[in-house]
Amino acid sequence: MSKRQNIAILGSTGSIGVSTLDVIARHRADFHVVALTANRRVDTLFEQCVRFTPEYAVLGDAGGAGLLAQKLREAKVGTRVLCGNDALEMVSALPEVDTVMAAIVGIAGLRATYAAVSAGKRVLLANKEALVTAGGVFMTAVRRHGAVLIPIDSEHNAVFQTLPAQFQGDPAAAGVRRILLTASGGPFRTLDPAQLAHVTPEQACAHPNWVMGRKISVDSATMMNKGLEIIEASWLFNVPESGIEVVIHPESIVHSLVEYVDGSVLAQLGNPDMRTPIAFALGYPHRIEAGVAPLDLTRVGRLNFTAPEAARFPCLSLARQVLRAGNSAPTLLNAANEVAVASFLAGELRFDLIPALIEHVLETVAAEPLRALDDIFRVDRVARECAQTWLERDRAAPRIRMVAG
Ligand code: NAD
Ligand code: MG
Repeated sequence: MSKRQNIAILGSTGSIGVSTLDVIARHRADFHVVALTANRRVDTLFEQCVRFTPEYAVLGDAGGAGLLAQKLREAKVGTRVLCGNDALEMVSALPEVDTVMAAIVGIAGLRATYAAVSAGKRVLLANKEALVTAGGVFMTAVRRHGAVLIPIDSEHNAVFQTLPAQFQGDPAAAGVRRILLTASGGPFRTLDPAQLAHVTPEQACAHPNWVMGRKISVDSATMMNKGLEIIEASWLFNVPESGIEVVIHPESIVHSLVEYVDGSVLAQLGNPDMRTPIAFALGYPHRIEAGVAPLDLTRVGRLNFTAPEAARFPCLSLARQVLRAGNSAPTLLNAANEVAVASFLAGELRFDLIPALIEHVLETVAAEPLRALDDIFRVDRVARECAQTWLERDRAAPRIRMVAG
């Protein structure tokens, strides 16, 4: 690689953050970690600071930041400790930072990711919710400030890799007919639909192929993750909803495909290990070692592909619906989903009622045009309040709506 890259990692204690540091540790001479951030995990962030000696560490609240600062002083590590959203935005836009890994989960990552884009950084985008909630506003900022977006989501990274290198956001000019996103189908792909009412957070988070944060794991189980990814792909590659197909592929070896007008279908394959897309993005346009086991196709033996069952995965069609509706509809969907997933993980909402709650919010709150970041946060707030009201009413007088099966 040419010059040493200075990198800020937002969400460094999460699944993507830890994998990013694992790849960076294999290439210490090529990367310098300027900033690491976490919400609450002081101990993990402390260990990361000792190992990578960043200039800055950011925590979600002052209590945690005070604790971390004390531990670092005792360990004689000179990292400056900051806290809160302003600090996240500050480290994302530092002049000495070339690259920002955006790996905070949920709309919580939007402000800092947007700050990185607005500072014209090279942004490695894992935080799909930023693009789902803020799509048009976000992509306008990317273009206006000359930011470079490299998708980390394995499917979008696969599409990025299989599009022509000179792709400039014009699928027709590139001869693209369709994008095919693969999906594992999650842990409940073959479960009796009647059982979906009784599944626990632990079962939902036990993904067959990937080890991920809890929120995205639940999203994978409902397939809302794939719904969010359809919206993400639409913004990243400028493809309409009708040009994005979803294929269930339980082995998670083919990470996605691009179909061209001449009938060629190009795919990217590999073992299901996020260090591959992370290393691709860190090294781009060069290839760097990721520590990923080589793919042995003869051991995999068979690759299966089926169409997703609409009745089992209502979240997929909800996502398609909001993408077609545009305006703030995807922001509403994301907010309702974040509330629903948190409630499910807290043991309060039944798994099969997640789509019912989202549908309620979409039916209750009218979509409106989004012009700036503040509009997005306002819509997000209204949707959350609506979802919360539904949850409270629903808990008082259970309204059983079978949306799955
Ligand atoms: P995770 O829950 O493991 O980690 C989330 C990180 O964000 C943690 O470092 C946490 O401290 C931080 N964080 C959480 N809430 C925060 C807040 N309010 N303010 C500041 N920081 C906060 O999640 P993950 O699985 O690493 O996923 C991160 C993002 O990457 C998500 O948007 C997810 O959809 C996307 N993604 C993840 C995977 C994967 O394999 N894990 C794959 C594709 C896309
Ligand atoms: Mg994905």
